[in-house]
Amino acid sequence: MLSHALHYGTGVFEGIRAYARSDNVYIFRLKEHMERLKDSAKIYFMDLKNSVDDLCSATVELIAKNEMRCQTYIRPIVFKGFGGIDLNLTKAPTHVAICPFKFESYFENQKSGLDTCVSSWRRISDVSTPPMAKACGHYLNCAAAKVEANLNGYDEAILLDSNGFVSEGTGENIFIVKDGKLVTPPLSASILNGITRDTVITLASEMCVQVAERNIARAELYTCDEAFFTGTAVEIMPILTVDRRQIGDGKMGVLTGRVKTFYNKVIAGNVEKYNSWLTPVYVRSVKQARTEPAITAETSLKHGVDPVLEKFEMSFWHETHL
Ligand code: PMP
Repeated sequence: MLSHALHYGTGVFEGIRAYARSDNVYIFRLKEHMERLKDSAKIYFMDLKNSVDDLCSATVELIAKNEMRCQTYIRPIVFKGFGGIDLNLTKAPTHVAICPFKFESYFENQKSGLDTCVSSWRRISDVSTPPMAKACGHYLNCAAAKVEANLNGYDEAILLDSNGFVSEGTGENIFIVKDGKLVTPPLSASILNGITRDTVITLASEMCVQVAERNIARAELYTCDEAFFTGTAVEIMPILTVDRRQIGDGKMGVLTGRVKTFYNKVIAGNVEKYNSWLTPVYVRSVKQARTEPAITAETSLKHGVDPVLEKFEMSFWHETHL
């Protein structure tokens, strides 16, 4: 109960997806997520001793140990434990936990598009709490906006930054489409440096679609041709209305659809060039499993995989325990 993180929000975390396919389970952009976790910890002087490689292999082992073969969400968290009430968080011990659980879609009823509003709350800013850090305490800002939006009948909120420019959703980055080009707010608009955002920018260049990272005025949300959110949890999610103004024809836009289709191909492992973004969990493919004796996670640890699990406070949560 006296954990520093609980009282002061002194933790940093990640949200990662693993996709189950017939031959294996693949974690999407695991390294990039763990790099961002390290960066978040550094910003707040949290002494995360584990290397990115350690964090990655621990995650793989954890999913294998839990024998998870479903769509999975992985929540690594670095947080400050019991260390008195001194706000100097460096005096409290640092704990690391990784919790994987079964996860399908973020929005209920498998929503195919969202009704959104511009929040009355402004996005936190670099002058107080740097949005680039994915820190626990920062999420009070997101929660306030989300509750307000839901109470007013909207699916999601869009926050403006302290200068009144469009920033992001409560757990998503935002893109608009105007005249066939993608536009998304820059890092300086108080956004989290989203990994899905980066994926979309990379895929857009592959599709020869121009992307501008520039400030977006609120009214551009009302007059754009298409809009969508990006994020690990929501993936590519069309925005159908903003403040009750219909976007385009009120359905997923054509370019949004193309981006989403390409993204889905990439996460499904159907685009060779981007297969390095997918980390396989199980050592053996399903084909091998049929012909060779089983190797359990226990034995795979003995078979040369570094037993990094011991260094972590691992949460061996099975989906049924949630
Ligand atoms: N902004 C915020 C505030 C978020 O919480 C998230 C989810 N991590 C995102 C953007 C999207 O980031 P990513 O694509 O890395 O999940």
